[in-house]
Amino acid sequence: MTASPKKTTKTTKKPTARNAKKYVFAFGQKTDGDATMRELLGGKGANLAEMASIGLPVPPGFTISTEVCGYYYDHGRQYPSSLMRTVKASIKDIESQLGKKFGGKNNPLLVSVRSGARDSMPGMMDTILNLGLNDETVDGLAKVSGNPRFAWDCYRRFIQMYGDVVMGVEAANESEEDPFHKVLDALKVSRGVKVDSDLKTADLQELVKRYKQLIAKKTKSAFPQDVMEQLWGAVGAVFGSWKNERAILYRQQYAIPAEWGTAVNVQAMVFGNAGNDSATGVAFTRDPANGKKVFYGEYLINAQGEDVVAGVRTPNAIADMQQEMPKSYKALEKVRTRLEKHFKDMQDFEFTIEKGRLFILQTRNGKRTGLAAVRIAVEMQKERLMSQQAALLKIPAESIDSLLVPVFDPKSLKAASKIAQGLPAGPGAATGRIAFTAAKAEMETKKGNKVVLCRTETSPDDLKGMLHSQGILTSRGGVSSHAALVARQLGKVCVCGAGDIKINYEKGTLTAGRTVLNEGDYISIDGSTGHIYKGMIESADSEVKRVLEGGIKPTNSYTYELFQTVMKWSDKYRTMNIRTNADTPSMAKQAVAFGAEGIGLCRTEHMFFDGDRIDYMRQMILAVDEVQRRSALRKLLPFQKKDFFGLFKAMNGRPVTIRLLDPPLHEFLPHDDVVRRQLAEKLNVPLDFVIERIKALHEENPMLGCRGCRLGILHPEITEMQTRAIFEAAAQILKGKKKVAVKPEIMIPLVGFREELADQLKIVHRVAKEVMKARKVKIDYLVGTMIEVPRAAITADEIAKEADFFSFGTNDLTQTTLGLSRDDMGLFYDEYQRKEIYNQNPFASLDQSGVGQLIDLAVSKGRSSKPNLKLGICGEHAGDPASIEFCQRAGLNYVSCSPPRVPIARLAAAQARLRNS
Ligand code: PEP
Ligand code: MG
Repeated sequence: MTASPKKTTKTTKKPTARNAKKYVFAFGQKTDGDATMRELLGGKGANLAEMASIGLPVPPGFTISTEVCGYYYDHGRQYPSSLMRTVKASIKDIESQLGKKFGGKNNPLLVSVRSGARDSMPGMMDTILNLGLNDETVDGLAKVSGNPRFAWDCYRRFIQMYGDVVMGVEAANESEEDPFHKVLDALKVSRGVKVDSDLKTADLQELVKRYKQLIAKKTKSAFPQDVMEQLWGAVGAVFGSWKNERAILYRQQYAIPAEWGTAVNVQAMVFGNAGNDSATGVAFTRDPANGKKVFYGEYLINAQGEDVVAGVRTPNAIADMQQEMPKSYKALEKVRTRLEKHFKDMQDFEFTIEKGRLFILQTRNGKRTGLAAVRIAVEMQKERLMSQQAALLKIPAESIDSLLVPVFDPKSLKAASKIAQGLPAGPGAATGRIAFTAAKAEMETKKGNKVVLCRTETSPDDLKGMLHSQGILTSRGGVSSHAALVARQLGKVCVCGAGDIKINYEKGTLTAGRTVLNEGDYISIDGSTGHIYKGMIESADSEVKRVLEGGIKPTNSYTYELFQTVMKWSDKYRTMNIRTNADTPSMAKQAVAFGAEGIGLCRTEHMFFDGDRIDYMRQMILAVDEVQRRSALRKLLPFQKKDFFGLFKAMNGRPVTIRLLDPPLHEFLPHDDVVRRQLAEKLNVPLDFVIERIKALHEENPMLGCRGCRLGILHPEITEMQTRAIFEAAAQILKGKKKVAVKPEIMIPLVGFREELADQLKIVHRVAKEVMKARKVKIDYLVGTMIEVPRAAITADEIAKEADFFSFGTNDLTQTTLGLSRDDMGLFYDEYQRKEIYNQNPFASLDQSGVGQLIDLAVSKGRSSKPNLKLGICGEHAGDPASIEFCQRAGLNYVSCSPPRVPIARLAAAQARLRNS
């Protein structure tokens, strides 16, 4: 348990009234903050302040700022010395606004204590409700409400939450039942009742007694009766939860820096469990699953907020409220419109109706699926709620991908047997083996199996398992349950609240009617319809892809219309070009359909693996002299020429950057004895010769060995053959019947010295001249280099003198700058993540403060000697939105990513421009 604030040993100057730092911000009759203060107040605190100040019915309270969180961790979990005084005064303010007293025997004030980081992290941190109840105040609440049952219901809920969150009384592992639930269930059985709401006052009093005994037994200390002690315990637990395992994992997933910290919101409780004229719920101003403009959400009568989110009872759809509580529904509809107009985004808000009176407890920009993000932004722009630019910035660039995700193949789907129906909560199609626990899901995926995580309900602790799963299926809980919320955000397929399904963890079975499936059996779920199927179902291309490939008419697909609108706007606002990394005509065609404007990287080594060519390639590598090597290269030439011809044709006049051979040659040689023997036979050489040559070519550290331009320098005939193939293919295109332009850009890899580039350049220009002369054509071409090693970046002014362009090979540049092999992170990476040493995998998202400095240096040095130097990036980072934004700031001309990421890159480049112009 966390102690009350003490003076820390690190005493700073005693704060005077004038210089005292403000750590606590009120909202209610008097409001100190607003929506712009997210950094300091967290998202929840800032929006509570904003709602209070525009006159929405918000129960009064205060926010302890995120700075206190930073202080707390920097000072051995202690608070600033002024905090206790300010918090006491803030409680007094709430007391006077409501005429209640914290710890008072007659009309007690109860509060909620909730986390609230700058970006919402739903369910990842802790919350305490009904704080301020003890053995005396519970009687006061019973009297003032005239409803003893309600008072005792609050008290048992409070003890359970506090016992779990602050005092650590919880299940030891995920297959053990929650100890409080166990006590509750036992009592229900002994009283012969099915649902909690059937428990009488005396039963709840007994439950409180048993809960207290449970806590005493497990913690060897009593449940605290002092309300201030309760408050500081809860505040400490919320700050402490910033560093719990699931919060850390969530931060890694969404690149949220550990330094941000969380705020703590203390707010007067209002009661949705005060009778049948009371309710609580969660609502979205539009459908967060598909983006439709419908009022969406759910509520429970006579319940508290946690019941809705935790999925303990399956709630009613918000539309039912029109009949059940018509007045409240009208009030809620008004709030819905007001919130959207004010916050100019889809809102996810929590509300409570206490004896017919509506209160709003929080609002935030609603988490949504990728599809919903696109639809909401496009439609809000059409409704004139926002500009095109603002709409573009509202769509997480990765979301566009969910319009391209596969769906179930219609034929396979027809043959599939549907076993149940749940709520569609995260669109897309998922097939996998059933895993009943997060641990099992992780284990199976590590074995290479696809899984669907199936649980009665999920808790935040399941996050890791969800990350590993293709999809998530729950038998309880509604569309705003934890499972649904997190799945949507992760872009995972999700079906929830499938009440017809029974999951028995102990037996390891999932039952739907007469169908019984075991853990490990295949199951398929459709998160767009909520259908659940037995077995495996083939998947098929998305609607957008089928339109792009001509299978569906564009006018018949609204999803395609949304996709096109966003792409059109993106192209209007971006300044960087988008190219693709493609090595085959079919990849190139796919990329062009997605909007690629050129090839930024063709890795020629990928062209050598097919059919006979691998044998000629091996013959070339095993050659002992130039004559033998040239003879093998002559056989490879026609293949290369054909490949390049195909690429040029597919790109139809767009620039094509072809990188000369890069990897260590022995990567192409066989390691296994049988294949070595076959190779010897094919090449008609003794087996010993093959073995000896492989030995001779062995390198201790091939990544830093004879690769990149070193190959062409050592064996100029390789560069010659590849250049000849490129120019022959280009000439053939130019000589073709159809007038098609061709723009080859030849790229020399792994250059660190100007002289290396100059050496290769000579060969390229000589061969180009020869081919152009022989074929009588003029080919417009460029020769440039990759910047992949720190020396190249540092001496970029020198290297630029030889180059027409630079392309940052950030895979190698990251590897060589960090001194970290791209293939060998496995052993320590998990620990680095746990300790938050890397905010993100540096090979997935650019290390901007390290590698980024080298890029900035190379850009300025390169352009200092050649102002028009063309600059691009072709490492994996080129498909990552955060890295793309860095490229925009660095002044690059283009990014080149894999074909499926082209739409993401188009949008990310527009956003980067809009954020940085
Ligand atoms: C790079 O190093 O970033 C790059 C694109 O080249 P490769 O990944 O082929 O080494
Ligand atoms: Mg490289």
